[in-house]
Amino acid sequence: MARVLFISNDEHKISTLQAILTKNMLDIEVVCEEGKIFENIQSFFPDLILLDTAFECSDIVVLAKKIKINTQTDNIIFSLIVNSDCDNQDLLKTAFSYIVEPMNEKILVSTIMSNIRMKNSLDVLSKNNADLAKSLYQLDVLYNTSTRFAGSLDREKLVDIMLEGLEKSLSFNMSYILLFNSDDDIKLIINSLHPLSERFEQAVKLRAMISYKSLFDKKQMPYAIKPENINVERRIKHPYVEYDLPVLNYDNMFAPITVGEKFFGVIEVFREEEFKSEDATCFQTLSKQVSIPLETATLYDEIKQTNTKLENLERMKSEFISIVSHELRTPLTAIKNSLGILKGGTAGETTPVMDKFLGLAERNVLRLKGIINDLLDLSKIEAGKMKYTFERADIITPIEAVKNTLENLIKEKNINFSLDIEDSLPLVFIDTLRIEQVVTNLISNAIKFTPENGEIKVSVKLCSGVELNQAELAPDMDYITVSVKDSGIGIEQENLEKVFDKFQQIESSLSRKIGGTGLGLPIAKQLVDAHKGAIWVESVINQGSNFTFAVPVLNDFEIFKSDLEKQLVSAKANNYKLGIVKISEKTQGASFIEDILSGDISIIRKTTNVKDYAMIEGNCKVLYYTVMQMDRYALNFVGKKIDGFINSEPKYKKCDILFSTALYPDDEMTVEALIERLRTNTIEVKS
Ligand code: ADP
Repeated sequence: MARVLFISNDEHKISTLQAILTKNMLDIEVVCEEGKIFENIQSFFPDLILLDTAFECSDIVVLAKKIKINTQTDNIIFSLIVNSDCDNQDLLKTAFSYIVEPMNEKILVSTIMSNIRMKNSLDVLSKNNADLAKSLYQLDVLYNTSTRFAGSLDREKLVDIMLEGLEKSLSFNMSYILLFNSDDDIKLIINSLHPLSERFEQAVKLRAMISYKSLFDKKQMPYAIKPENINVERRIKHPYVEYDLPVLNYDNMFAPITVGEKFFGVIEVFREEEFKSEDATCFQTLSKQVSIPLETATLYDEIKQTNTKLENLERMKSEFISIVSHELRTPLTAIKNSLGILKGGTAGETTPVMDKFLGLAERNVLRLKGIINDLLDLSKIEAGKMKYTFERADIITPIEAVKNTLENLIKEKNINFSLDIEDSLPLVFIDTLRIEQVVTNLISNAIKFTPENGEIKVSVKLCSGVELNQAELAPDMDYITVSVKDSGIGIEQENLEKVFDKFQQIESSLSRKIGGTGLGLPIAKQLVDAHKGAIWVESVINQGSNFTFAVPVLNDFEIFKSDLEKQLVSAKANNYKLGIVKISEKTQGASFIEDILSGDISIIRKTTNVKDYAMIEGNCKVLYYTVMQMDRYALNFVGKKIDGFINSEPKYKKCDILFSTALYPDDEMTVEALIERLRTNTIEVKS
């Protein structure tokens, strides 16, 4: 029955309205005293309030405004009973509808009824709005949660994200999640608004076990479950009151967490307020959504473990190869020495037949030595223990050396060997011995895989990175390339990449016959890589192969840097404590000096302020550099100022000062001259 609250102190109107409304099945309550109005609204909770504007009170407009404000949020319809000549706009504005006096029964009833219908419609609308807002909120939570799922590969974190999402979207009182890692690693995470009594926690544990068991036939259960293997983790919101068994009677939702056949656990949530269908959708979605990232995380864990195992195996294998190779070297040296003694005749005369076999033995000992050295080199490179001695050198020296070493083999096969070197090639920054090793591997392969009377052509050129178009090379740098082209058996296209992999020998009757370890090219590749270069091959089967490697040409700046580095190494070896005073901040040189001088060298960074010397404490050597783009007169001026300063301040004389002035870059000065100047300009100020 709809409720109408009538505010009036007019006896006649009250009795008339009471009679009419009761007749029309409406519940009417009357308030005659101003002070009781709001109390009455609270207790009676009307659908419609009728205010008689003739009501005797302190101020009818203020009262009407107050009623309006107090009733708005609950959709209570507020109507005024007004005289037909009422023109008080402030009063009229407060109400939703009006009943005009003198009252006509029919109009009165139909106005009241339509107001009540309006109230019902507003109620439905409000409810729909609230439901919509809740659904939107849940959608938002779902969206955010799934975005967060995507960013994590940690299983525990994923479960946390899901629980957070559920908590936000369902506001449950208590939830548990039973997660399985293995039979003896099972976790029960209890998320609850309040702490759980001991017996309640036991009951939850039991319930979780039963829920899990109910999902499977006994024989197909993925994990055996024993209470003692369950680790309980409690996450409690408010530590005040304790929850007890009745919480289990709250409304609940339950879901297994699985991806396809794989089972991860179960989850159940409890809420005092009943769950609606949209809550169930939200719950199902979240518990399903977590499964896929959980599986990915599990796979990731497995891959990580397998990787660690593989890494260990790889390390053990490398160590094994390294140890065995070392062990083989000693007896091999003894055999080689013994063969030398026998061949030399010290142990007695040898017959020609004996010489033949001794020669055979010696050749094979050398081959074995080569293989062992290759194995050792590769294991050193892989362990990052290969030591390089880079220096500015020309590339021709190692190539000529290899040519001389392999001359006999070339002659034996009557191979037409040519070496084509471009004029005035710049220097490169290489470890000459390692580059010799690379060239040896390439040329000896070319000899090996080229039939008698064939051809081998070695060409050395200067090329730009763009021209070479190799992924490892910088397009804006220059390189020197060394190509070894032969007219041998060639390599099939599909095998071209493989030849640089360890232990790869391309199956062909010839290469099988020829034999080898498949280590030469991988070693060559690693050595070239260490030079920041690249190696590649082009080949046509039965026509020949062309192996090329490129090493970068140093520009003036890098040459300067390498020379400076050398100086610093020797300064460090002499135990100098090095201090650097920089005169200019802006030059390119200034920042690369900092790069070189990382760590153990104290850098005093400063401008033209010579007093910075004072910052270098104690007895120390000071390598003084000015690297700047200042003209040389200015530089000399600064230099002199520093000299004068040091000489005039006795306390600075306790420093031994290596004083160098470098002007770089400077169009007029070559790098060589600059380095020379660094050397000659060194003066020592004795204490
Ligand atoms: P190996 O010790 O077996 O020569 P490498 O790593 O030097 O090991 O070479 C790997 C494989 O690449 C060789 O077994 C051969 O099949 C192929 N290969 C290398 N150089 C040439 C070449 N110049 N012509 C044809 N095939 C070659």
